[in-house]
Amino acid sequence: MNSKYIPADKLTAWLDGLAADNRVLVPVVENGSIVFRPREAGSDTPLELEKQATVPPKNAVFPASEPLLTFSYQKHEDEPEKVDVSVQPTINAQPTVVFGCRPCDARGFTIFDNVYGADIYYESRREKTAFISQVCKETANTCFCHWTGEGPADSRGSDVLAVPVDAGYVLEPVTEKGEGLLTSSLLADASKEQQDAAAQMKKDAREQLGEAVDVSEARGALLALFDNMEFWEDVSAKCISCGACTYLCPTCYCFNITDETCGSQGHRVRSWDNCMSYLFTLEGSGHNPRPTKAHRLKNRVGHKFSYYPGLHDGLIACCGCGRCIKSCPVSVDIREIVQRAIETAAAETKAS
Ligand code: SF4
Ligand code: SF4
Repeated sequence: MNSKYIPADKLTAWLDGLAADNRVLVPVVENGSIVFRPREAGSDTPLELEKQATVPPKNAVFPASEPLLTFSYQKHEDEPEKVDVSVQPTINAQPTVVFGCRPCDARGFTIFDNVYGADIYYESRREKTAFISQVCKETANTCFCHWTGEGPADSRGSDVLAVPVDAGYVLEPVTEKGEGLLTSSLLADASKEQQDAAAQMKKDAREQLGEAVDVSEARGALLALFDNMEFWEDVSAKCISCGACTYLCPTCYCFNITDETCGSQGHRVRSWDNCMSYLFTLEGSGHNPRPTKAHRLKNRVGHKFSYYPGLHDGLIACCGCGRCIKSCPVSVDIREIVQRAIETAAAETKAS
């Protein structure tokens, strides 16, 4: 597959071309946050491509709230025990291109894929969505994608990697779907010099992050600490259960389902849920198996670094984007918890 080059001054014209057949989601500043919004052809709203988006483009494939089906029922007047029920699935999957997300954001969907592979709503949108991920020119001190993946040029989950080079981008197709987006006459073949610059840029981005911490022991360490509530109470002491870490996480996929009815008709809605909330596991009987924030944080960290990897060939359910660290109002840092868990479990093993 051939790489292409787009000069920066032709970028929006190319995106406008893509918008003729697709919903094109781009990062823009809105109320002080960077969010992905559909681009209107010819729009003069500037793209925010320098910084990582505040909110990842998870919505593109897994909406914060979506109707799954509509239903209605009709009782028979003459035979009151008889009811006719009608159910109609409502799948809304339009061709979509996400431009300017980071490689970690796109990789987040590979973690979803193992769980939502048979979900027709997720699958139909996933199939119709392409990710053009921008390799990070600058990394933040909260980024740790190299602990859990290959770093800022990781292509898994992306369809095209856009590598910033002098005055434009080298566009490297990763999938056939991505190659199909690179047919515009505004794109030139990437020259040897541009491709060399792109390779150097990817190397520089990886080097900025420094040495990765080895978290391969986290899976066993978190299991070993499962009943050590002193540890979990300590690491969760300052958490205020706000849920920002889960809502802004590109790999959190829990949901709740509610029926909204009006008379004899209504719709069933799926909405994101938040495992850091007391209500998440509250049962109808009043019993709550995760009654404290220590239990809930144990579940959140354990799920990402131990239980999910145990089910999916060691794959860590965190792409290292750092948003949970950046957005936590009291600076709970998942990196510190994982490292501390590894050290504490090792010390316990040594002492026993
Ligand atoms: S757990 Fe934190 S660092 Fe990992 S993917 Fe979620 S928000 Fe990003
Ligand atoms: S963002 Fe921080 S304070 Fe809020 S629930 Fe997550 S860990 Fe707790």
